[in-house]
Amino acid sequence: MTENILDTNTQIYPRGQSKIQNLKSKIEMTATQVQNSVPPKRKLSKTVKNPRLQRIQKIHAIAVNTLSYLGLTVAVGLLLFGYPIGAIEMSIFAIATFLTTMGIVVGFHRHFTHCSFKAVTPVRVILAILGSMAGQGNVAFWVALHRFHHECSDTPDDPHSPYFKGEKQLGKWEGLWHSYMGWTVDHKLPNPLYYTSDILRDKTIAKVNSLYFLWIAIGLLVPTLAGGILTNSWLGAFYGFLWGGLVRICVTQNLVWSITSIAHIIGNSPLESGDRSTNNIWIAIPTLGDSWHNNHHAFPNAAIVGWKWWQIDIAGWIIRGLEKLGLVWDVKVPTPQMIETKTIAK
Ligand SMILES: [Zn+2]
Ligand SMILES: [Zn+2]
Repeated sequence: MTENILDTNTQIYPRGQSKIQNLKSKIEMTATQVQNSVPPKRKLSKTVKNPRLQRIQKIHAIAVNTLSYLGLTVAVGLLLFGYPIGAIEMSIFAIATFLTTMGIVVGFHRHFTHCSFKAVTPVRVILAILGSMAGQGNVAFWVALHRFHHECSDTPDDPHSPYFKGEKQLGKWEGLWHSYMGWTVDHKLPNPLYYTSDILRDKTIAKVNSLYFLWIAIGLLVPTLAGGILTNSWLGAFYGFLWGGLVRICVTQNLVWSITSIAHIIGNSPLESGDRSTNNIWIAIPTLGDSWHNNHHAFPNAAIVGWKWWQIDIAGWIIRGLEKLGLVWDVKVPTPQMIETKTIAK
């Protein structure tokens, strides 16, 4: 019986192959054919070259810049022409600005961009929503842009370096202007698919990311309602919208721009960071500690960047507070030895 089967195999496949061997080679051939028929995986480009997407980004930046500055102009104009604001409007502005800046500094920057600590999903979602309300782009855009900044800090590719055209441009104020505000409408557009696959793969955060304009609308609506309800007047609602909405966006933007510019120009650089980042004490409090920018560039994944008693790092305190509540963990901080190895000898 066994002999018959072997005979049969030999008969059908005369070149010495058994039926099983032949099937195997057929499967291998098919696999190769399938492999060859699948187009090779496209390499993702680091920047977006699509003119339509570039135009949309520019329109977004111009719209946010114009509307927020218009809001600031009206607000200051009303103050100058004898329409002072009261404690309610001041409080709405202060709370809204603090929460939005926290969304950017603790959320967009230290958590989503640099993964400097882990957090429970509700905290991640709240931080992502608060950061979105700043009107500086959705989570994926902001994170992609900032990771791109760290990758090529203070080189011509850096989206917002004062040294984007080389050292001498700074002397003509061009570098300062570009790194402060000019860059928002004139920079290479990083590809979120390349830089933020971790964020886009996270279904919850990707959902928050896709609802960006809804968060901006809510960010304008809540202070408007608060102003209206607390003062029981339409004028109060208008002031809530103006101070808690437009002025808040304008101030938060300027805080971020002061980091992109001043914290790469003015201040000292005690640590080796491979770029021109500086520590700047004067804007440490309003930026919630992000102006310890040389510390940050030397250790980008550090959740806490104020390591000396006088280096006020409000964002770091918030992260420590959330850690004590058990809402965040794996808070990354460099050891004194690590800091020592990067300290530039005087
Ligand atoms: Zn920087
Ligand atoms: Zn950073």
